[in-house]
Amino acid sequence: MAEQKRDYYEVLGVEKNADEAAIKKAYRVLAKKYHPDMNPGDAEAEKKFKEASEAYAVLSDPEKRRQYDQYGHAAFDGGAGGFGGFDFNSADFSDIFGDIFGDFFGGGRRSRGNSGPMKGANIRTSVRITFEEAVFGVDKELELTLKDECTSCHGTGAKPGTNPETCPKCGGKGQIVFSQQSFFGTVRNVQTCPECNGTGKVIKDKCADCHGSGYIASRKKIQVSIPAGIDNGQSVRIREKGEPGSNGGPRGDLLVEVIVGRHPIFQRQDYNIYSTVSVSFAVAALGGEIVIDTVDGKVIYDVKAGTQTDTKVRLKGKGVPTLRNKDVRGDHYVTLVVQVPDKLSHEAKELLKKFDAETGDTLNAAKNMGSDAGETKERKKKFWK
Ligand SMILES: [Zn+2]
Ligand SMILES: [Zn+2]
Repeated sequence: MAEQKRDYYEVLGVEKNADEAAIKKAYRVLAKKYHPDMNPGDAEAEKKFKEASEAYAVLSDPEKRRQYDQYGHAAFDGGAGGFGGFDFNSADFSDIFGDIFGDFFGGGRRSRGNSGPMKGANIRTSVRITFEEAVFGVDKELELTLKDECTSCHGTGAKPGTNPETCPKCGGKGQIVFSQQSFFGTVRNVQTCPECNGTGKVIKDKCADCHGSGYIASRKKIQVSIPAGIDNGQSVRIREKGEPGSNGGPRGDLLVEVIVGRHPIFQRQDYNIYSTVSVSFAVAALGGEIVIDTVDGKVIYDVKAGTQTDTKVRLKGKGVPTLRNKDVRGDHYVTLVVQVPDKLSHEAKELLKKFDAETGDTLNAAKNMGSDAGETKERKKKFWK
């Protein structure tokens, strides 16, 4: 945020020691003046409204106000000494909005309609697959518990032959309205009916098969086609295999998170694969063919003479297929590690000594140095003791 945040007390135009009532009163005036519904299309008013609402959310909450008084805006920006981000959405404006706007907008904020078709909730699950399955894709069968509309009561939850009755508390509206006297006169507040949970219907005789829920849960087998190239933590969405919808709405979706197992030799980063291959000293020095494991099987690679350890080789197109197009693939990067032989036969040792004498006599390098170097060696020995 480039703009400097204004002091919350200044925003509301109240003193630092203002009491709760004064803060509420100040906000009420500003909210009424700048509410977006009163100033359609006025960005400046909207900004002012948000600023005032944020200031009110903090100063009307004793704990938040205390933090603000102590730390200022830093209390809510998640920085050092702060208390984590200030979640604007969690602030409860319902009482003051009902209070202020109830009389203007016929009941304040409307709760979600209950009568229209509603999509069911999504279900989340996970599946474990191997590294290779992630690379090339795989079909899996999942078994999970899914709800279906109860066939006995056709989802009504009422005993067959009976029907759910109109909720007596809300008269079938699913909402109850209560009036309250306030500063501005009579205010109407709207609440979801607690008797019927907003459905507008109550069940007297419950269906025995579903115990009134309207749903029957059962174990179901579901086929999941996991595409080539999927990575650990990504999800596959299977449409309409989630919770059933209500009032004729579609089912929610099933989201299957893919957990990819580790591979003993391959590592993956995005669409590239990485591995390490040992190369003998002789091959590294003289050049020669080595066998490299890839996800497509073994490939023969020609190592150049004089290859140093940690040389990186790129096997183009031997990586992971991209999710968009499985013919477009990442690369496989191989690190060649030259092995130092450690179990040598007597004969091999002799040959290596001969080899060394031929290529610089490194085994006798210290011995062959002058007397100065000899002294240094002595001193080092003492030093290390
Ligand atoms: Zn039933
Ligand atoms: Zn009701």
